[in-house]
Amino acid sequence: MRPISPMQFKERSFWADTVPAAGRATSRPLPESADVAVVGAGFTGLCAARVLAKAGARVAVLEAETAGWGASSRNGGMVLTGLKLGLHTLSEKYGRETAHQLYAASLEALDTVEQIVKEEEIACDFSRSGHLEVACKPSHFRGFLQSAELISREFNLPVRMVSRAELREEIGSEIYYGGLVDETSGCVNPARYVAGLAVAAEKAGAGLYERTRVERIQPATRQGVKGHQVWTSRGSLWAREVFLATGGYTGRATPGLRKKIIPIGSYIIVTEVLPEDLAREVSPRNRMIYDSKNFLYYFRLTPDRRMLFGGRAAFFPESADTIRRSAEILHRGMVQVYPMLRDVKVEYAWGGTLDFCFDRIPHAGQLEGLYYALGYAGHGVAMATYLGTRMGRIICGEREEIPFARIPFPGAPLGLYNGTPWFLPFAGGWYKFLDWVS
Ligand SMILES: Cc1cc2nc3c(=O)[nH]c(=O)nc-3n(C[C@H](O)[C@H](O)[C@H](O)COP(=O)(O)OP(=O)(O)OC[C@H]3O[C@@H](n4cnc5c(N)ncnc54)[C@H](O)[C@@H]3O)c2cc1C
Repeated sequence: MRPISPMQFKERSFWADTVPAAGRATSRPLPESADVAVVGAGFTGLCAARVLAKAGARVAVLEAETAGWGASSRNGGMVLTGLKLGLHTLSEKYGRETAHQLYAASLEALDTVEQIVKEEEIACDFSRSGHLEVACKPSHFRGFLQSAELISREFNLPVRMVSRAELREEIGSEIYYGGLVDETSGCVNPARYVAGLAVAAEKAGAGLYERTRVERIQPATRQGVKGHQVWTSRGSLWAREVFLATGGYTGRATPGLRKKIIPIGSYIIVTEVLPEDLAREVSPRNRMIYDSKNFLYYFRLTPDRRMLFGGRAAFFPESADTIRRSAEILHRGMVQVYPMLRDVKVEYAWGGTLDFCFDRIPHAGQLEGLYYALGYAGHGVAMATYLGTRMGRIICGEREEIPFARIPFPGAPLGLYNGTPWFLPFAGGWYKFLDWVS
């Protein structure tokens, strides 16, 4: 196998190279006040800002880096049905009715992405490509059968089992024991999508303030109106409402929320452009593909026919060191799945931080007087769009029912967590163990 030397790949997101720089002025002074301060300019924050501004609210989006800098521009671009926990597990945990509502929300989330892309004319290669989940063990394939039956019965969706013998029609790999195809899922170029959302939010009238890190938020009454003083790296402003949309990058400014979020690293490599016949061989139907492990691999072709191969290789949030180590692990993984890609050059490697809650489902609502939505656990392209949009409407005063808002938001067991995820190596080991025994 050709060893990967760091010199062979660019240590940055492939998607970033597909988007022209927005060229926003970073010196624009902050307003003295706003109706709503949105913290974080990813899918969640920008979708909320768009809805709020369209409803006539004065919105200031405060982003520590640049719009889309977080997970939103660096992910796999898989717009998936469902949540991290399968429908069966959701039913066991929350009962049939709630599980049904949570899953239905994931379907509505996909429709929301499609609708926004169309309405705002965002050129981001969105299409309903469908996804393929591949079974790493025969027992996983039997588990798929249960999911397929449940999803088809409850939602009447085009979900289909693919036996090991038929798998060749879906994937050019011999190592899996079968698969499940869900035609409803889609794909997107995430960097173009989030850049388009930023433009849409600004067009609706929201102010976008980049390089503006929120450092502290405190309750403050102004001219008799209750609200919050928001201190940033570029001065402070008063806002009647604050919406926290900081995902896996939630930090010290909001210690209450930080304690409920586990930031987990996820990494991606992208190869050089594949010849047409090789691309067709590895993914004949151009699906979004992921495997059935806890420590999973996810992969797809990019619109220009590169293999994008990702996984939770290092578990810790990204750094130059974890990116390099992860690139090697992912390269080995990719060649294991697709031996024919052995000599294909890796051109990009990068990492980003996923937002996981302790119960592995998204949460949205109000905490200590601040609105929030996060915890998408690898399903954020669709779910962040959906919850950002819905929370935007709720902050506008609309009566919206979100099933996630009814589920208690757990912290760490025994409260042994201050926001520094000391347990990640143990959690990583635990999930590897589960993959081994399950
Ligand atoms: C490598 C990778 C692959 C993934 N693949 C997929 C996939 O294929 N499909 C899928 O559905 N999901 C995927 N995800 C998950 C998905 O990308 C996220 O769930 C989603 O982007 C979260 O969006 P967000 O807006 O909530 O957070 P983010 O996009 O992370 O944005 C949060 C923003 O908040 C800002 N911020 C944080 N603190 C402050 C502060 N104090 N002041 C100001 N700004 C602040 C950050 O700078 C950041 O820009 C992946 C994630 C990663 C990392």
